[in-house]
Amino acid sequence: MWWPFSRKYPERSPEDVDCREYDYVVVGGGTAGCVVASRLSEDPNISVLVIERGPANDLWFSRIPIVSSNILRSDGGATSWNCEPMAHCGGRKTLFFRAEVLGGGSRINSMVYTRGSPADYDSFVHAAVALGFPIISDANAPDAPLDGVCQLDSTVNASNQRVSTMDAFLSREIALKRKNNLDVCTNAILSKIVFSDPKESGQPRANKVSFKYTDSKKEDLFIAKVRREVIVCSGAIWSPQPLMLSGIGPKAHLEQLSIPVVKDLPGVGSELVYKSLATLSLSSASKVTLTYSLDRSFGRTSRLGGTHQRILDRIASSPVTKGAIEFFKYLLFRTGLLSMPVQALTLFLRSSSLNKEGNRLESRVSKDSTKLPPQALVPDLEIMPLATSACDDLEEHYRVFDKIRVFSSLATLLQPKSRGTVRLASSKPHDRPKIDFGILSNP
Ligand SMILES: Cc1cc2nc3c(=O)[nH]c(=O)nc-3n(C[C@H](O)[C@H](O)[C@H](O)COP(=O)(O)OP(=O)(O)OC[C@H]3O[C@@H](n4cnc5c(N)ncnc54)[C@H](O)[C@@H]3O)c2cc1C
Repeated sequence: MWWPFSRKYPERSPEDVDCREYDYVVVGGGTAGCVVASRLSEDPNISVLVIERGPANDLWFSRIPIVSSNILRSDGGATSWNCEPMAHCGGRKTLFFRAEVLGGGSRINSMVYTRGSPADYDSFVHAAVALGFPIISDANAPDAPLDGVCQLDSTVNASNQRVSTMDAFLSREIALKRKNNLDVCTNAILSKIVFSDPKESGQPRANKVSFKYTDSKKEDLFIAKVRREVIVCSGAIWSPQPLMLSGIGPKAHLEQLSIPVVKDLPGVGSELVYKSLATLSLSSASKVTLTYSLDRSFGRTSRLGGTHQRILDRIASSPVTKGAIEFFKYLLFRTGLLSMPVQALTLFLRSSSLNKEGNRLESRVSKDSTKLPPQALVPDLEIMPLATSACDDLEEHYRVFDKIRVFSSLATLLQPKSRGTVRLASSKPHDRPKIDFGILSNP
């Protein structure tokens, strides 16, 4: 849906960039990848190639907060698959979502913009001090209590439009301005980082990348030469995959798949931290829950079925009128349902500060408390209220929750001790990696 006079995002196809040479290749134009590519390409003498699995999908609609946060929309840039059966959860599988679009998670997430707790940053600082770096005092350090409810900041601009890292760092304007030194190649996946022969160069050095179309029916293989570095930014789940396909990872696993080992690095794909969520959903008599209002106002009305009750319900809530009003409210004033973030509030707390029953805050500490160990100054629980269903089983979602008005509360473990793994399902880049979240695996 392009306004006739505006210029399109300058996406490159794999053919456009085939056999070219770049200073840096950024694998994954997601949240981090857009920032990295933007910063590197600020210098016009440095050439950068971004290889992104998804499209740019640079549409006006994709900036409407509530619409772009709907990860169930097939055209919204989110993809999902089930993890491996979890040994410590009775073999249960859970559905999880990834972004597959330029801007990555920042195009589809809930836009929550939260600082971590100071003690979390302090532990980074201590690690940095141990490595010999000096401490730089942070003038922005907040003095908020450690336990409490807070209103969240969102990644929206003054016009209540989503601001992804694509918008902030690699927008159409920036990409067009830097077209001489920056190529953004979309709908392409990295298949391998090619290393120089260590016999010739001492250490293996990344000197080429090979990539394919994301569409697995197209079999052509393309290459780009690398003068300086390959920077892998394809996310927590998808970064281990290209590394392992290139021979960097746990030796035994690579050998199982007959992948020649460049470097035996057992940590690749082995320390997956998953903040598991326990969801409590309550049906509500209110007509203002988000899923209900959205579905009826902006689509999927065909799912309503044909019962009289549903037809009456639909007429009573006048979805077309309601939808039109909300749309014009947003278009003209940037207010209303469409301007809302999907999550506006949260409660951070430390389980050690609760009473025995776990239902009341008992002790408060000031963050200046020096007697407590650093971990005691970091919240380990977050409870997020949502005006939607948060069911991780899509079949159940459509069968039950999609049809009722529902509020949910998501309790999240912020400091899980369990660790999971990302392993290759095969040596083919198009095959999704196998994810074991390892939930409850820590005794
Ligand atoms: C549903 C959801 C809601 C969330 N809500 C919030 C929130 O409100 N606030 C918050 O701070 N965080 C939130 N998060 C988390 C946050 O979005 C992520 O932590 C963040 O986006 C991760 O950034 P990244 O750059 O590491 O990876 P991503 O942003 O996921 O980027 C990885 C990119 O790499 C691409 N890619 C993968 N493999 C390849 C390959 N082989 N070749 C080429 N490209 C490849 C992908 O297409 C993707 O664009 C949410 C996440 C999800 C899924």
